[in-house]
Formats: sequence, structure tokens, C-alpha cells
Amino acid sequence: MSRAEQALVELRHVTCAYRTGDGPALVDVDLEVAPGQFTGVVGPSGSGKTTLLRVVTGTVPLSAGSVVRRRGLRVAYVPQVETVNWSFPVTVAECVLMARTSGRRLPWPSRAERAEVAAVLDRLELGDLGERHIRELSGGQQQRMFVARALLGRPELLLLDEPTSGVDVRTRHEVLHLLDDLNGDGLAIVLTTHDLNGIAAHLPHLVCLNKQVLGSGAPRDVLTPAVLERTYGSTMDVLEHGGMPIVVDQYQPSNVVKMRRASGS
Ligand code: ADP
Ligand code: MG
Repeated sequence: MSRAEQALVELRHVTCAYRTGDGPALVDVDLEVAPGQFTGVVGPSGSGKTTLLRVVTGTVPLSAGSVVRRRGLRVAYVPQVETVNWSFPVTVAECVLMARTSGRRLPWPSRAERAEVAAVLDRLELGDLGERHIRELSGGQQQRMFVARALLGRPELLLLDEPTSGVDVRTRHEVLHLLDDLNGDGLAIVLTTHDLNGIAAHLPHLVCLNKQVLGSGAPRDVLTPAVLERTYGSTMDVLEHGGMPIVVDQYQPSNVVKMRRASGS
């Protein structure tokens, strides 16, 4: 097999339990990430999505199974934005630069490092915001800043944990377009999401996870009532719109109440 075809990462029969958890977070998971692949991992809260990304980065011990990374593979990880401490007093450029200087004290980056940061900020249309405090950014700009940070290491595989949770529709489109562009340039991407219609349905490949892998393939093949029921443990309908699957919850009492109120009945 040529290097171009060789999997970037391969998980084989991975089982993973946290010491303090009740039962394993992942059970017998197989996953292969090929060069240039763009995969979404979907599943309910607590289904092991974040743990799966951590298995790929190698930051969580395995109970069983193995992870094989291509030799010298450069992986970048963009954590969920909520886990970030926004009171930390740094500018956008400093924050991006920290990824490179890895703990070395600012503000003494080399000229080459500065130029690299400027280039990556430009690439993500953040060029004018370098001197701003990170707190002043909009949700979409925050996401782009984290992607900028991740790109500084020239990764071959980019992992993003819930990259669009808590952002508005326009920002979501912005982030999706950016990721699509990066993937078009050859970057392999694995993201987690619980947004089936807004994100998952638009991706080329999905993995449905609930401790185990319950489905894997194109959205139209895995966003089916049967696979969704196995993954989420509740009944969902799937409609089609413009050739794309749309998932609807069959029963949401709170929505029913709201709609009744709105219609005055
Ligand atoms: P998701 O990202 O899909 O919400 P997680 O991977 O965060 O799921 O969590 C999977 C399971 O592992 C959950 O039951 C969660 O409570 C547990 N878990 C996650 N992180 C830890 C941890 N650091 N210590 C103990 N249990 C954890
Ligand atoms: Mg998570």
C-alpha cells in the first residue's frame, strides 16, 4: 500500500473505561481514518464521542484493543469551546502563537513564528483581529481562532469536538464552509456533533456511536430510523428534502405545548 492510501489512524477493537466511570465509555470500537476523509461522529450525550477523539490523540488509556497511527502523523485537536477559560488575558495572535511556543514565555516569538501566525490568521480571515482580546470575539471568530491554532502545527488530521455547539445558523455555515475548504486542500477531518440536520447530514461520512459503533457510512445510509433508534434509543422519523435526510423527533411534549400556545388553542 502506498503512503497516500495508508490509513492515518486505525482503531481496532478499542474498549476504554475511565477508572471512576460506571462501565466502559467505548466498547469494541473499530474505526479507520483515511487520508482526506471527512467524518462526523454522532451520538447522544455521554455516548463516548469525546472519548473517541481522545483515543485518536492518545490521551486516554485503552482497556483493550489497539490504535495504530501512521508514522510521524501530525494530529491537531480543537476542544469544545465551552471548556475554555475566556478570562485569560491574551490577544488572538498570542493565543494562536501559544500553540507553537508550547508554554515558552511570551512575548518573545521569533520573526518566523510571527510570520506563520500572521499567515494562518489571514487564511482564516482573522487578520484584522490579531490584537483583540479573545473575549471580544464572536462565536464564529472563536471557532476560527481555535482552528488557526490547530493549523499552526500543519496537521494531516484535524479533530474537532462539537465545533458548532451553541453558535447561530450563520456561524455554523461559516465553520462548515471553512472545514470543507480545508478538507478540499487535503486535510483529513473528524468532528463530533449532536446536530444531525445542521451538520451531520452535510458530511460525506458518518459514524453513529453509542459506546459501540452502530452505523458507519454516507448520511443517507446511516440516518435511518433503524440506526437512529439503536444509537439514540428513541424513535425518530426521517424525511427527505432535496435528496438529504432530515431527522425529526417523533414526540417532544414540550414542543407540542409551545405550538399549542402559539396558535392560541
Ligand atoms: P460524549 O462526548 O459523547 O458526551 P464522553 O466521551 O464525554 O461522551 O463520555 C462518555 C462516558 O464516559 C460518559 O459516561 C462520561 O460520564 C464518562 N467520562 C467521560 N470523561 C470521563 C472522565 N474524565 N472520568 C470519568 N468518566 C468520564
Ligand atoms: Mg463530548
